[in-house]
Order: sequence, then structure tokens, then C-alpha cells
Amino acid sequence: METLTELRESETADHAAARIYCANCVHCKLVPTPAHGTGRYYLRVRCDAGKWKKKLGEEKIYKYFTVARRAIESCDAYEDMGDPREYMRDLKKSLPDKDEIYTA
Ligand code: SF4
Repeated sequence: METLTELRESETADHAAARIYCANCVHCKLVPTPAHGTGRYYLRVRCDAGKWKKKLGEEKIYKYFTVARRAIESCDAYEDMGDPREYMRDLKKSLPDKDEIYTA
């Protein structure tokens, strides 16, 4: 018999399998972005297939710690990097929980 935790993990895995997570796509790129005048940087993510756009057409870039939230129903440019369930589970464990600043 499955425990409640196992059931929740199983449901999360099923949900992950049904959606496209941009983090699991080869086009989702990690980009260091300078923190002005500090010599340090933030981490951002961008879609190098050009699919993330603001209303006026400019490219949209997201904070790295939010990357696991970029889930969509479909994308004609999606190229997966492996099993999304396993990848997303590991990613969620390793992501920072806020926008951190890094030293070069
Ligand atoms: S190509 Fe599509 S699935 Fe891949 S990162 Fe861009 S929007 Fe996400």
C-alpha cells in the first residue's frame, strides 16, 4: 500500500509527464546577468528559440529561481533533455528559493 507521500510524488510525476517544462528543454538557457556596479551577477533564464515574449514583442527573461514554474501545454520547438519527472524532481530540490546574487 502506498503512503500519502508516495501518492503525492506519483501525482506530481503524472502531472509533470502531462506538461512541458521549459527547464527540461534544450532551448532553456541559463544566463548570468551583471548586477550593475557590483562585479557580481544574477542568474536568469531565456528561451533561445525566441518563444518567451512580452506583450510588445521584446524578449522576456525570467529569474532562475522561478524556472520550474515555466510549464506550458505545448511548444513546437520543445526538445527534451530526458525524463521530465526525474529532471524536475531533482531541479526543484536544487533551485534557490529566491533571487540570489553570485560572485564572479
Ligand atoms: S522552445 Fe518552447 S519548450 Fe523550449 S524553452 Fe522555449 S518555450 Fe519552452
